[in-house]
Amino acid sequence: MSSEPSAPLAVQRAVKTFQQGARVVRALDGASLEVSRGELLAIMGASGSGKSTLLHAMAGLTTLDEGQVLVEGQDVGRLPDAELTRFRRRSIGLVFQAFNLLPTLSAEDNVRLPARSEAGLDEKVAGLFARLGLSERRSHKPDALSSGEQQRVAVARALVSDPAIVLADEPTGSLDSVSSRELCTLLRELADEGRTIVVVTHEAEVAAWADRALVIADGRVVGELKPGPARDAQTLAGDYQRLLGERVGAE
Ligand code: ADP
Ligand code: MG
Repeated sequence: MSSEPSAPLAVQRAVKTFQQGARVVRALDGASLEVSRGELLAIMGASGSGKSTLLHAMAGLTTLDEGQVLVEGQDVGRLPDAELTRFRRRSIGLVFQAFNLLPTLSAEDNVRLPARSEAGLDEKVAGLFARLGLSERRSHKPDALSSGEQQRVAVARALVSDPAIVLADEPTGSLDSVSSRELCTLLRELADEGRTIVVVTHEAEVAAWADRALVIADGRVVGELKPGPARDAQTLAGDYQRLLGERVGAE
């Protein structure tokens, strides 16, 4: 028997096209990557480079034209609908730039929403609120919370089903720098505890918290950057610009 365990998450030669009027856009054009368990992977790239499409494909929210998404070695695109829904609910936690909380529900009810009513749910939710520093905010509606608090509620919602994988699309895009830093600290902790995390960002300040940053352009991975142990965003930003510049220069 093979002893090499499958990567928690891999994308192989993903192609995804969209029709825009008479034009066909290749949002993904052969993107491949692999994420290790407990890794915090950043995906950087300019607007329109295919980051969100890639993340949606990893979440099983988009079907690919070609290529595959493998979770624990299993091709997500081949799952029957019912299993795909179960996979999304159990294995993937999603965090978005715009938080996507339901405005009429309290923070706590937003977090409980995706969870199945199960034994121990109350303790789990209470534990998440305590951990994220939100215990006093449980009964508040989203509009009574700061942006940073709303995003932490969204993270709690993503974690309530205890997913092995958390995918975040520009999660700091609507946050001030202090809240942004808090969120990065949290994502870093979650990865250090063994969760597999992919964060899409165009901010070097965010990518600097990652173990690796993949750079994507025109729907393909064009390079990999290693943030230093000092999490120096300026050096990373310089490396990123250089990589994109070399690409333009090479064309
Ligand atoms: P990013 O997140 O890096 O800004 P996206 O993945 O959102 O990039 O988009 C990549 C390309 O695919 C863009 O050219 C975008 O216009 C196009 N695109 C993405 N989603 C759709 C869609 N649902 N319909 C048509 N075109 C799309
Ligand atoms: Mg996007």
